Amino acid sequence: MEIDRRNMLVGGMALAAAGATGAFAAEPDRKIGYAIVGLGYYALKVILPQFANCSRSRVVALVSGDPAKARATAQTYGVPDHGIYDYAHFDDIRNNPDIDVVYIILPNGLHAEYTIRAFKAGKHVLCEKPMAVSAAECEAMIAAGRAANRKLMIGYRCHFEPFNREAMRLARTGAAGRIRYVRSEHGFVQRDPTKWRLHRALSGGGSLMDIGIYALQAARYMSGEEPVSITAKDSTDRTDPRFREVEDMIEWTMLFPSGAIGGCLSMYSANQNHVLAMGDKGRIELEPGTRYDGNRMWVGADGREREITNPPPGPGVNQFVGQLDHMADCVLTGREPIVPGEEGLRDMRIIEAIYRSAREGRTVTL
Ligand code: NAD
Repeated sequence: MEIDRRNMLVGGMALAAAGATGAFAAEPDRKIGYAIVGLGYYALKVILPQFANCSRSRVVALVSGDPAKARATAQTYGVPDHGIYDYAHFDDIRNNPDIDVVYIILPNGLHAEYTIRAFKAGKHVLCEKPMAVSAAECEAMIAAGRAANRKLMIGYRCHFEPFNREAMRLARTGAAGRIRYVRSEHGFVQRDPTKWRLHRALSGGGSLMDIGIYALQAARYMSGEEPVSITAKDSTDRTDPRFREVEDMIEWTMLFPSGAIGGCLSMYSANQNHVLAMGDKGRIELEPGTRYDGNRMWVGADGREREITNPPPGPGVNQFVGQLDHMADCVLTGREPIVPGEEGLRDMRIIEAIYRSAREGRTVTL
């Protein structure tokens, strides 16, 4: 497996420098135009309201199968009529020069198709996590972006979230010594059996694809390493109507090249949001760790523990703004996103290995 943490870290530093040195000076007034694809919960409740706080990003188009919802949303955010598309006319976005970036916020099983179509229309793509439902799809998305010479970024918002950024920095600079073990559990109670998340064709899998991916990401960015082997166990009540097609609870252990271990848990049957890195000099703990807001962090060393209440600010007023404006910055400057398609592909290869290990009841080597 390709090991490319350096890109991410260098990217992170470049991102900090861009804010400090005014890398946007070439086009000081230009805002990058986004088309939002899919007007569901995350698009409507979380992402769209954040454009008001962005300095480099604006929303110029919406893609939805519900004309009334699209019109009402367009009115709220000042999107012109010619910026409203339904799925049948998605490819017409190629004729809209206001659209620079297409932000895919659809069920996971549709990410690859719409990403590739957006590239064919000549647009850059920000695609929600998980990047797709298989590594093969991720590879096709990356290839399409390269062929179109356009940027591809994955919606890994924690890389723009101040506590997680500070936790990564502290781990990398030895605040807890040599990291030996990273523990992360992520879950929520999935109550709705009709939800696309419980149907494999649209979700690609269960809690691991949706929320467990945060535990996987945390184990990777806190250790700074890529796993060499995986041992996983699925514990799902398949008589529960919610879990006929996808897993509820899955636990996995990752062995890293240094000998460090990542122990992760993902579930749809309890609420949990926790990251803990243990080193030979101390520990770094986040709980909750990866929420939209209200995250908390403690650092312990030499037998003392202190809460970090004011991590250095991220690149935006919050993680969502940081993410949107980072993509805009990448489009404007030609820089690579700190969480490119390759980062989504790495996770998807590991996710496939986790599922394989659980299915076959053996350790899988990467
Ligand atoms: P949602 O169900 O609320 O919204 C999905 C939207 O896709 C709906 O508007 C639905 O109408 C539309 N859609 C279009 N074609 C569809 C089809 N064939 N079947 C079903 N729906 C279709 O879901 P959501 O919670 O907004 O999640 C969307 C994506 O965003 C997922 O990939 C999810 O993983 C991701 N997400 C990310 C975060 C994060 O924190 N980064 C948070 C929530 C969701």
